[in-house]
Amino acid sequence: MKEFDVVVIGAGPGGYVPAIRAAQLGKKVAIVERKKIGGTCLNVGCIPSKALLRHSEMVEEIQKANSWGIKTGELSIDFPKLMKRKDQVVQTLTGGVQHLLKRNNITFFQGEALISDALVVSIGDGKIKGKDILLATGSTPFIPPIKGLDKINYHTTDSFFDLKELPKSMTIIGGGVISIELAFAMAPLGTKVTIIEVAPDILLTEDLDARKIIKKQLQKKNIQTIIKAKIQEVQKGKVILADQEISFDTLLVATGRKPNIEVTKELNLKMDASNKFVAVNDDYETSKKHVYAVGDLVGGYQLAHAASAEGLIAVHAMNGDHPQPLDQTKIPRCVYTHPEIASFGLNEEQAKNAGYDVKITTSNLAGNAKAIAMGETEGFIKIISDHQYEEILGAVIVGANATELIGEILAMKHSEGTMNELASMVHAHPAISEAIGENANALLKQAIHM
Ligand code: FAD
Repeated sequence: MKEFDVVVIGAGPGGYVPAIRAAQLGKKVAIVERKKIGGTCLNVGCIPSKALLRHSEMVEEIQKANSWGIKTGELSIDFPKLMKRKDQVVQTLTGGVQHLLKRNNITFFQGEALISDALVVSIGDGKIKGKDILLATGSTPFIPPIKGLDKINYHTTDSFFDLKELPKSMTIIGGGVISIELAFAMAPLGTKVTIIEVAPDILLTEDLDARKIIKKQLQKKNIQTIIKAKIQEVQKGKVILADQEISFDTLLVATGRKPNIEVTKELNLKMDASNKFVAVNDDYETSKKHVYAVGDLVGGYQLAHAASAEGLIAVHAMNGDHPQPLDQTKIPRCVYTHPEIASFGLNEEQAKNAGYDVKITTSNLAGNAKAIAMGETEGFIKIISDHQYEEILGAVIVGANATELIGEILAMKHSEGTMNELASMVHAHPAISEAIGENANALLKQAIHM
C-alpha cells in the first residue's frame, strides 16, 4: 500500500489549494477526485457562472453604448458560441490546476474515495494510506421535496452549464445568490426569467439596501420575482402555485446545497450542532485525530475562498505550525450581479449585539465622478464601525467593481487600520474608491463631497 504524508479527498478549492501548500511544506501528497479537477467552483460554480455573467454584462454595455451614440447594428446572440467560450474559460483554469498539481509532485488519483479504516483510503481496487487525511468533498445541489419534481426534467447547477440552446423562458425555484446571478446571466440574452422564492424575500443573506437595488434591477430586466410562494406542484412546463401557474421551457432548481458526507460515514465523525455539517475544531480537525475537513463539508461560509483558507489552516496544523484561527469577519462575500454586491464582517444588528457602539456611514455613488462618467451611479458604500476606536467592523459595497473594491476596506481592517487611516489615504481621481475615502471622512465629519 502506497503511503503519503497527506491524502486529500476532493480537488475543488478546498482540496487542491491545501494539497499544493502541503507539497510546498515538503509533504508527500496525494489527491483523489471522483469527477473533475477544480470541483464545483471551477466546473459548475463560480467560474462558469462568471463567464456567463460577463456575456450578459457585455450585452447591456452594448445596449447602453447604443443609447449613448455608439451604433453597433442589430445585436444577435450565438448561444452555442458563448457556451464554447465558457467551456474554454473552465478548461484554461482546470488545466492550470492540473499543471500545478504536477509541478508540485502531487500524485493524482481519479476515482471515488472511500475510507474503510481510519487513515486508509480506497479508490476502486487500490488502497493508499495517509499520515493525515483532508476531507474536501464539497457539496451537491439540495433538491426540496416538491410534488411532481421527480417526474419532469429539470436542471440543477450541475447540469445548467451544459445548456445547448438559449431557453425562451426559464423559471428558477430559489431566490438565493446563485439563482439571482443566473437570472442576471440569462435575462439580458433574451430569456424570460421568473424567480420563485418561498421565503419572504430574495437574497436574504444580503444587506437590505443592497437588496433594494438588486430588486429594482430585476424589474428593469423584466425578471418576475415571486416571493412567499406556495408551491403546490410541478408539472411538465409549469409550476403550480397556490394562486397562479408559471409556465417555463427550462426549469432550474437552485435551492441550496448539501454537503457530500458519504465518505465520512465509516469514520463515524461527529457532526456540528445543525447535524448537517462535519464538526471541526479551529484547526479543521474532525472528531477523529489526523482527519481534517474543510470547505462546503463543514459549516461557515460556503465559498471557494473560505474553503481554500480553511484548507491552508488544516495543512499548517498538520505541519505543527499552530496557525491562527480563521476570522469569519474577514471573509469577503460577493454577488456578481450588475451592479455587484460585496461585503464582509458584521452588519448593524450583529455589531450592536456584540456590544459595539456602532456608527454607520454611507456614501452614495450618485455623486462619484468616475461612476457618473461610467454611467454606473447605482450603488453605495456602507461602512459599519465602532465609535470608540473607529475600528472597521464590516462593510457593504454595491456598485461597479464592488467585488474588487471591497479588498481595499478589508485590507485596511486586516492590517489593523481604522477609519482614521482610511480617511487619510489619498485615492486616485477619478475612481469609485474615492467614495471609500469620503465615507471614512464622513465619520470624522470631514467629507468634502457629501
Ligand atoms: P467542491 O468545489 O464541491 O469540491 C469537492 C470535490 O470533491 C468535487 O470535485 C467532488 O467531485 C469531489 N468528491 C466528493 N466526494 C468525493 C469522493 N468520495 N471521492 C473523490 N472525490 C470526491 N463560491 C465563491 O466563493 N464565489 C462564487 O462566485 C461562487 N459561485 C458559485 C456559483 C454556483 C453556481 C455554485 C453552485 C457555487 C458557487 N460558489 C461560489 C460556491 C463554491 O463553488 C463552493 O463553496 C466551493 O466549490 C467549495 O469548495 P470545496 O472544495 O469545499 O468543494
